[in-house]
Amino acid sequence: MNPSIRPAAPQLEDLQPYDPKYLPADVMLSANENTADVPPEIRRQIEHEVRKVALNRYPDPLANDLRDMIAEANGLDRDQVLLGNGGDELLFDIALAWGGPGRTYLDMPPTFSVYRSNALLTNTAVVEIPRQIDFSLSGEACQRRLEQGDIDYTIITSPNNPSGNLADPLWVERLAEASDALVVVDEAYFEFSRNTVRPLLDRYPNLCILRTFSKAFSLAGVRIGYLLGHEDVLTQLKKVRQPYSVNAVSQAVARVVYGNRAAFEKGIDAILAERERLLGALDALAGVSAYPSDSNFILFALDDAYDGGAVWQRLLDAGVLVRDFSQAPYLHNCLRVSVGNEYENDCFLEALEAALA
Ligand code: PMP
Repeated sequence: MNPSIRPAAPQLEDLQPYDPKYLPADVMLSANENTADVPPEIRRQIEHEVRKVALNRYPDPLANDLRDMIAEANGLDRDQVLLGNGGDELLFDIALAWGGPGRTYLDMPPTFSVYRSNALLTNTAVVEIPRQIDFSLSGEACQRRLEQGDIDYTIITSPNNPSGNLADPLWVERLAEASDALVVVDEAYFEFSRNTVRPLLDRYPNLCILRTFSKAFSLAGVRIGYLLGHEDVLTQLKKVRQPYSVNAVSQAVARVVYGNRAAFEKGIDAILAERERLLGALDALAGVSAYPSDSNFILFALDDAYDGGAVWQRLLDAGVLVRDFSQAPYLHNCLRVSVGNEYENDCFLEALEAALA
């Protein structure tokens, strides 16, 4: 018997499994979820619909009923919508279809780290053009780089995670215009920013928009995301996607929620009001600088007198989980807190004050 194991593919060697330190805590404010459950009346409808799902049958591979609903709401055809097992799956599909050996991805850090990992996993070269000090895009530098013509795809996050700011739509347009690279605008937090580049879709076939049910629609556990884009782009993505990745139960849940999406607006308004209160309270704390946000989370930096990692641990010890970016590139001593309800936010503020004392 040969006891050794042949090494995995070489590109995995320097990669770590994705670990967001999603630890159990009394107050979970680390993953930008909507901390409110789906409203009870909608939950009842979900239970009714899920009871009807044929569990022994494969799901509709493309989730056509849900696709039609999303297409209609966005003034598009079915062929311009593609569903995935969370936005994460679609991001991976994009790397598979537009990346690969000999191909190049343009990253704009600090941003969602999954983009870069997907590129490395698929042997795609990564070119980095960091954001500016206020986290806005380095628009001119990106435009010039795209104009060189060797970038295969790029992802612009708007609002950006973890900084919370929107991308200027003028820059999005200039970047879409700069070359034939696929330009993905990740609008995972669109329902909080209420800002979209949807009007640009009709003019730029190389542009597509990613959205998710995981944030505003309280369905992070259900795993549904979608892309809006040109049918030729989505046809390529269909070649690499897992045929049955969007399961029948999730499709049923998402149909009910999407049909009732107006009912989430009140909860979104409450989160936006709490965000402003939280920002004011963070600004009033000595040693803390909070960044303005168009989303449901706030990034804040701690003075060098504090050790961000130690503050994160003290918050966790007090039962409050936030996201630690203190060692991440471009995010020196930064933590990110998701906006919860009034009680959760008070717990966080109280624990932070104590952690800094
Ligand atoms: N894009 C961004 C910017 C995100 O923050 C997230 C979630 N962390 C996603 C995409 C993916 O979300 P999901 O897979 O839950 O749809």
